[in-house]
Amino acid sequence: MQYRTYGKLGFQVSALGMGCMRLPRIIDKQKNESQVDREKAFELIRYGVEQGITYFDTAYGYHNMTSEAILGEALGQGLREKVRIVTKQPFGVMKTQADIRRNLEQTLKKLRTDYIDVYLIHNIQAPIWEEIKQRQIIEAYEQFRREGLIRGIGFSYHGLLPAFKDILAYYPWDMCQIQQNFIDVEREATAEAIRLAGQKGCALVIMEPLRGGCLANPPLQIQRIYDAYPVKRSAVEWAFRHLINYPEISTILSGVTTLPQLKEDIQIFSQPDAVPGCLSAEEQHILSQVKATYESLTSIPCTGCEYCLPCPHGVHIPGVFRQYNDGVMFGVFDQPKRGYMLMGRQNQDASQCKACGTCEARCPQHIPIIQELQTAHEALKGWIE
Ligand code: SF4
Ligand code: SF4
Repeated sequence: MQYRTYGKLGFQVSALGMGCMRLPRIIDKQKNESQVDREKAFELIRYGVEQGITYFDTAYGYHNMTSEAILGEALGQGLREKVRIVTKQPFGVMKTQADIRRNLEQTLKKLRTDYIDVYLIHNIQAPIWEEIKQRQIIEAYEQFRREGLIRGIGFSYHGLLPAFKDILAYYPWDMCQIQQNFIDVEREATAEAIRLAGQKGCALVIMEPLRGGCLANPPLQIQRIYDAYPVKRSAVEWAFRHLINYPEISTILSGVTTLPQLKEDIQIFSQPDAVPGCLSAEEQHILSQVKATYESLTSIPCTGCEYCLPCPHGVHIPGVFRQYNDGVMFGVFDQPKRGYMLMGRQNQDASQCKACGTCEARCPQHIPIIQELQTAHEALKGWIE
């Protein structure tokens, strides 16, 4: 296993981290619910530790608030001290200082530990950033650090570069966690966020390196590009190598669900050349070709310009189209469906559309938005969490 330095906190972590958001599940379709398959999850976590993974990422809310407890139980019997545990508290449950402390106490209990290595504000987004500052969440986290309950302070972020820059510049964070992969170099916080975090000495952790697993199973036209290269690698390895190549990244999270996936990941991150600078110019060009080919597969020509917003009924039109295009592009709708379900919780999904037509008049691409929203809704609805 390759190891890297964790920003200014200075400790070493495995370059492969295990994300505990996609633990194996047992789905009960009749009851419309699911729960973690505990035995399989324990097997994965313990095997990861045995093989040298020292970084585990979870969150208060993952798996209907059971992920922390599963991880804590799996790391019993002396494994906790061998690893770094990172978890996150969501903004929605941090209404008062008492809430913030109570939630941390619950998390410590679930994780069966006296301290969290790095404690994150979960999923900071531009619209809630001002309120995060007003609620004095960072100040509460600083107090926890003085008490020895947490050792580092960070945030996870899904959003665009401008807000990321503001958040990063506001506070001397110990770490930040962002979505990146070779499809997203110009999307989300972009590859520029990697450079900026590195400049500040902020440990950088990457989530969604395989875009929810979508990059693991490429369509034929993309597989042909990989196959034409003399060095044979799986699509998973290509995607990981894109990120391993950055010296600023401390850990790349993989949300493994099965033991074979975990074994493949460990093998990739254990190679002697799985280090920064591992991609040649030719290999980077191949990944650019792969990215362009994926993008040519999308079906709604939405550029994300947001000229159609705001919708008077709250529909996040480019967000809906992005989820749909991702499903079409990768031929797999699991991740987009989950994202769409989360949009629905914020009343931003296509079911809110009242067909007023305001947006269509503003769209420079002349997209029949009302009709395409219906198509997207049919394809994306029905995710069971
Ligand atoms: S047509 Fe639908 S999505 Fe477009 S502005 Fe009206 S309500 Fe919003
Ligand atoms: S205006 Fe059209 S292209 Fe721009 S985000 Fe809206 S739907 Fe997409």
